[in-house]
Amino acid sequence: MTYDLIIIGGGPAGSSAAVYAARKRLQTLFITAEWGGQSVVSEKIYNWIGTTSLSGNELAENFKKQVLANSGAGQTLKVKESQKVTSLTKKDEVFEIKTELGEEFLTKTVLIASGSGHRKLEAKNADKLEHKGLTYCASCDGPLFSGMDVVVIGGGNAGFEAAAQLLAYCKSVTLLHRSDTFRADEITVEKVLKNPKMKAIKNVDILEVKGEKFVEGIVYKDKNTGKITELKVSGIFVEVGQIPNTSFAKDIVPLDEIGRIKIDAWTQKTETKGIWAAGDCTNVLYHQNNIAAGDAVRALENIYLYIHTK
Ligand SMILES: Cc1cc2nc3c(=O)[nH]c(=O)nc-3n(C[C@H](O)[C@H](O)[C@H](O)COP(=O)(O)OP(=O)(O)OC[C@H]3O[C@@H](n4cnc5c(N)ncnc54)[C@H](O)[C@@H]3O)c2cc1C
Repeated sequence: MTYDLIIIGGGPAGSSAAVYAARKRLQTLFITAEWGGQSVVSEKIYNWIGTTSLSGNELAENFKKQVLANSGAGQTLKVKESQKVTSLTKKDEVFEIKTELGEEFLTKTVLIASGSGHRKLEAKNADKLEHKGLTYCASCDGPLFSGMDVVVIGGGNAGFEAAAQLLAYCKSVTLLHRSDTFRADEITVEKVLKNPKMKAIKNVDILEVKGEKFVEGIVYKDKNTGKITELKVSGIFVEVGQIPNTSFAKDIVPLDEIGRIKIDAWTQKTETKGIWAAGDCTNVLYHQNNIAAGDAVRALENIYLYIHTK
């Protein structure tokens, strides 16, 4: 069969689109590697509209429940969980999508909502010591560093959130940031920096991760003075930004210089007819759950119009 629409991704963008697509009775296939998206690792999310606070896991569970409630017998929405899309190509007048399990699907339109993943730390030995004291998930690995000195690299929301979590069990947390100003919300910065176990150092270049079998320290350079310092730490938590999950689409939709899908902000259309994109995989300025969900709804409205006026 040829679907009206295939949605790729089960974060806030893809899940919102799936609910709208089901209610509009589009013949839709929803494919996701995982539920919930990036903030699934958050202990608490305070700005998801309609809830005072909830954990990332609860957010993921809610998405799953709502999408599945709109799927199943007699409904137009079909769901494929735990599957990664590996290719998206054009075949005659339709699109062909392949997954890592070797399944193939045809569709008239596509909504890419595949979000983004962690950018890796570029420093000597960072690769070698990944999962050996250097990690990209404070909420997953933080408790392993109980009573130890650790650093967080990155001064955005994710960095400060990681620091806030680590302060609960680590002996000390030092946040290293590459520029003069933090990118995180002021309220979060203030709250985290008030903790006596917390320290932040700005304007640094990370040079090297020290350690043989396990992290023993980190070496950084002060950008203003050129002074090189080695900090003895047991854990390094990296939060230096995100990389869009768009490799499967790179040959069919134009991407910007950092791999984000270029969209028209009025409609979420990409430059390829029949393909839309929404959320963190696109070249929008702000990355938030509510924004991703709203962008996807905008896309869905436009896809519906396209299908019914074609
Ligand atoms: C630590 C952290 C904390 C955050 N806290 C907040 C917060 O408190 N409030 C807030 O508003 N925002 C927060 N954000 C930002 C927010 O999480 C993102 O803006 C939002 O998740 C983007 O949603 P998305 O649906 O576009 O993409 P994502 O959330 O990245 O979801 C992408 C989805 O696509 C799936 N996927 C990826 N590639 C494929 C593929 N090839 N095939 C199939 N499926 C695929 C993934 O499994 C995932 O389900 C936080 C981000 C981080 C990293």
